[in-house]
Amino acid sequence: LGSSHPFLGVRYESTAAASDSFNPPSEKYEYQAEVSRLMDLIVNSLYSNKEVFLRELISNASDALDKLRFLSVTEPELLRNAVDLDIRIQTDKDNGIVTIMDTGIGMTREELVDCLGTIAQSGTAKFLKALKESKDAGVDSNLIGQFGVGFYSAFLVSERVEVSTKSPKSDKQYVWEGEANSSSYTIREETDHAKLIPRGTRVTLYLKRDDKGFAHPERIQKLVKNYSQFVSFPIYTWQEKG
Ligand code: ADP
Ligand code: MG
Repeated sequence: LGSSHPFLGVRYESTAAASDSFNPPSEKYEYQAEVSRLMDLIVNSLYSNKEVFLRELISNASDALDKLRFLSVTEPELLRNAVDLDIRIQTDKDNGIVTIMDTGIGMTREELVDCLGTIAQSGTAKFLKALKESKDAGVDSNLIGQFGVGFYSAFLVSERVEVSTKSPKSDKQYVWEGEANSSSYTIREETDHAKLIPRGTRVTLYLKRDDKGFAHPERIQKLVKNYSQFVSFPIYTWQEKG
């Protein structure tokens, strides 16, 4: 494997499917060009509405729980991991980390690429168009409300985002990892036993230096209180012991 052996902590980039089940290498992917454009637009246009990231991630968690609940009507075995349907948000203010976890439908490796590497979603495409048209007039927060900017809004406040996810359709848990201002992301298998989950998704935000204030529990709780009225699953918040 030369100088980029995974055991040395250097990313091994491969286009071949991961086969080593002990410590499989991470694979690097380029974002679809539109995604890179959207990320730039989000970060450059919405800096005064940074807190929308939490609303977007809570709404994704809620959607994932809805999907699981809906599918479980015809496929009750999806619920065989007896975990509650809920959303948990953990703050670690000392390290500037916010984690949003749900016990929803999760994503397979293929779904990670489709969902977090391309713009398949028409709502986001419409948002891009509206954003472009309003460029001269300046972007107003109504646009965000109308379309929702989605997952990539995590990069409004995060230097690095890790999405560790387990779908009931897959035996493996995968980690998607992306950095702000990067045109690529990686996917690897989750090998950290402490991070294995029975089902669902864990989104970890490593906050930018100037945005670490979002890891303060009071700040998150206040935002959660605003959004939770639109969510039909319990949202729990707790903080890392300092
Ligand atoms: P939207 O929610 O409008 O589809 P997003 O950018 O917010 O767009 O999310 C893109 C896609 O990524 C979602 O449609 C979903 O398939 C997937 N996704 C994001 N977050 C989660 C999650 N917590 N659990 C499962 N799938 C998710
Ligand atoms: Mg969304």
